Amino acid sequence: MSLFIDLHIHDIGHEAPNHISAEQLDYFKTTDFGYLCNPCFSRNDLGAQDKHLDELVETVKGSEFVDKSVLLAMDKPYDKKVHFYVDNDYTLERVEKFQDILLFGASVSPARPNAIKALHVAKEKGAVLNKLLPNSQNINLSDPKYDSFWDTMRELGLPLLVHTGSQHTIIAYDNKYGDPSLLKNAADKGVTIILSHCGTPEYLNTTIEMMKHYSNVYGGMAAMARPSRSEFLLSLAENTEVHNKLVFESGLPAMPVPSLLGQDILEATKDIKNPLDVYCIALKKLGFPEDIFYRGAELLNLS
Ligand SMILES: [Zn+2]
Repeated sequence: MSLFIDLHIHDIGHEAPNHISAEQLDYFKTTDFGYLCNPCFSRNDLGAQDKHLDELVETVKGSEFVDKSVLLAMDKPYDKKVHFYVDNDYTLERVEKFQDILLFGASVSPARPNAIKALHVAKEKGAVLNKLLPNSQNINLSDPKYDSFWDTMRELGLPLLVHTGSQHTIIAYDNKYGDPSLLKNAADKGVTIILSHCGTPEYLNTTIEMMKHYSNVYGGMAAMARPSRSEFLLSLAENTEVHNKLVFESGLPAMPVPSLLGQDILEATKDIKNPLDVYCIALKKLGFPEDIFYRGAELLNLS
């Protein structure tokens, strides 16, 4: 039996070396971002980071479908003010406490000094993928100066999980960096790429073209039952020719909102409390094939 892996849940940390700027804390108050809206975060209370992990762990453990989730660190911009940073070793330590259900998702920006060495270190420490959020890390991933970085990722067998589309939760420097076509270089280099959020809201068509053109490019479904993305999830459900390139990710603590997906989905999920299960049932009901739930394990070579 294959493992059902959720490739995308977010870690957070207040204390150094992690960082959340005052502006970012204010920004969280304006977003509807699940657990992060708990009052501890706006008070910058260190206990909030543990409460956040407890809630994630409880959700994954309580899921009827998901076996394991990848907990993601978050690298920072290296040429701009840092608003949000989650250190790799910090996230790794938290993953190690719950090894039966969490996997380590490292975040190494190619703009980081000694980035290639950091990729090797992350791999040695058990990272199953590398996550980037170029809009907020202020990196143009099409820059040829990153070619050797992509070569290293391919050689290490580290897939790239990359946020695509505009970014609404972490302060962004340039939302144009969420354009999936900027990943052509990395795709040509043979890196396995998961385009998180399928480029929505702006770049769904580009994502579909990339998935069709490159055998090593996939579409990740994180946080797509949300107000800015739900209409694109519905059109993706109709677009069956790319279903064999989609892979499940939840994007927790971004919570699914089943009412956005129609009366049938609302009815089918109304008694389900676990947000992972709500999202899984919604996707099944929308007609996405079961394969999307097991593709993550394949891409991470864990099946
Ligand atoms: Zn994310």
